[in-house]
Amino acid sequence: MTKPQSILIVGAGIYGITAALELAARGHAVQVFDPGPLPHPDAATTDISKVLRMDYGSDEFYWDLMLAAFDRWDEWNKGFSRPLWHQTGFLMLSRSNWQAGGFEYDSFQVAARRGLPLETLDEQAVRSRFPAWNADLYQTGYYNPRAGWAESGEVLRQLIERCPAAGIQLHANQRFERLLENGSRVGGIQTADGTQHHAEVVIFAAGAWTPALLPHLEDVMWATGQPVYHFRAPTLADYQPPRFPVWNADIANTGWYGFPAKDDGTLKVANHGPGWRVDPHAPRLIPASTEEKFREFFRDTFPGLVDAPKIGERLCLYCDTWDGNFWIDFDPQRPGLLVAAGDSGHGFKFAPMYGEIIADLVEGRPNPWAARFAWREPGDLTHEDARFMEADGSPKRK
Ligand SMILES: Cc1cc2nc3c(=O)[nH]c(=O)nc-3n(C[C@H](O)[C@H](O)[C@H](O)COP(=O)(O)OP(=O)(O)OC[C@H]3O[C@@H](n4cnc5c(N)ncnc54)[C@H](O)[C@@H]3O)c2cc1C
Repeated sequence: MTKPQSILIVGAGIYGITAALELAARGHAVQVFDPGPLPHPDAATTDISKVLRMDYGSDEFYWDLMLAAFDRWDEWNKGFSRPLWHQTGFLMLSRSNWQAGGFEYDSFQVAARRGLPLETLDEQAVRSRFPAWNADLYQTGYYNPRAGWAESGEVLRQLIERCPAAGIQLHANQRFERLLENGSRVGGIQTADGTQHHAEVVIFAAGAWTPALLPHLEDVMWATGQPVYHFRAPTLADYQPPRFPVWNADIANTGWYGFPAKDDGTLKVANHGPGWRVDPHAPRLIPASTEEKFREFFRDTFPGLVDAPKIGERLCLYCDTWDGNFWIDFDPQRPGLLVAAGDSGHGFKFAPMYGEIIADLVEGRPNPWAARFAWREPGDLTHEDARFMEADGSPKRK
C-alpha cells in the first residue's frame, strides 16, 4: 500500500469521479470541486446516451481498451440500480464499397482477425432487417453485436451518489479559480470564493474547460462545440432494436451517428465532425442553419425522419487534443499537477478504465494503458484537423 496522499480533483465529470472513487478506495483523502450542481448539466458526460463500441479502424490499442472496458461495464451494470449500459449492437453502414485503409474496411479486418462475431450485410439484408434505412444508398456494412449505448448522465449521477459513503468530500458550487504554486510545484487550488485548499496532488479533470483554466495547455487541446438533436421517432417498431440499433452512417466521410429511440420516442442524432472552436464559458449557441443539415441527412438516409419533430437540442463540448488521444499524465513542468482531460469526443465509453489509470499514475505504479495518454509535444495535426472548423462551416487550422 502506497502512503495515503491528499488529493484535490477539479471537475466532477466522468474522469474526475472515476478517479475520485478509485483513489478513495485505495485509501487516499479525496476532495472534488465543481461549479455546478452535481452532475453539472453542462458537463459533456451529462447526456441521455453515449455510444459504446470497440470499432476503431486499424487502431488496435482502442479495440483492446474497449474490450477490457466492456467486461467492466458488465460488472458495473450489476452495481447500478438498473442496467445503464444496453448491449443493442452496432450497425456500421456505408454508401460506397469499403477501401483498404478506410475506417470501415480496417475495422472489419481487425474484428475478423480477432474472431469477433460480426455479421456482414448486403443490400438485401439492410432492406429486410433495418427498414428505416435507405437501402438504395447504404448497401455495404456490418453489424457488431458486442456494442450499444450507456445512459451516461445517469451513470455519472449514480457514481456521484456513491462518493460520500466512499469518504470523498464533494464540493458542489465551488469553482476552481487558480492553482496554488510554490515555485513550479503545485500545492493546491484557490476556489472562486477565495478559499485556498492545499494538497499533495491536484488532478485537473475539467473536460472542455481545461485549456481555458490552464492556458499553458492551449497548444495541445481546445474546446469544440458539437450539436446534438433529439427528434420524436414516428413509430417505435422501426426505430428501436433489433431494427434500429446504435448506428454509424458512412461515418468516415460524414460523421453521422445515432441511437435507437427511447421508449418515449426520443431519438438522438449527432455528428462526430469538426464542430467549431468555442469558449467553454460562453453561452452555448447553435447556428439556426444546423437543423437543416440534419434534415438533409435524413432525406438521404432515413426518409421516414425528414419531418420528425425536433424535441430537443444541445451544444455539447469536446475537449479535442491535437492527435485525438486522451491526455492523462503529470505535468512535467509542474510537479503535483496531473491532467486528466482531452476526451476528443470519444472518451465516455472507457469510463470503467480511467480510475485505475489515474490512480496508478498518482501512486507511481506502471499501468498498461497509460503510455498512449502521456504528456507529449504537439506534432503535425492528423485526422483531428478535419474535425475543426468555424461555425459557418469554413475550414480553419489551429
Ligand atoms: C456531443 C457529444 C457526443 C459524445 N458522444 C460520445 C459517445 O457516443 N461515446 C463516447 O465514448 N464519448 C462521447 N462523447 C465524449 C464524452 O462525453 C467525454 O469523453 C466525457 O464525457 C468527458 O468527460 P470529462 O469528465 O472529461 O468532462 P465533463 O463531463 O465535461 O466534466 C468536466 C467537469 O468539469 C467541471 N468544471 C468546469 N469548470 C470548472 C471549474 N472552474 N472548477 C471546477 N470544475 C469545473 C464541469 O462543471 C464538469 O462537471 C461525446 C461528447 C460530446 C460533446
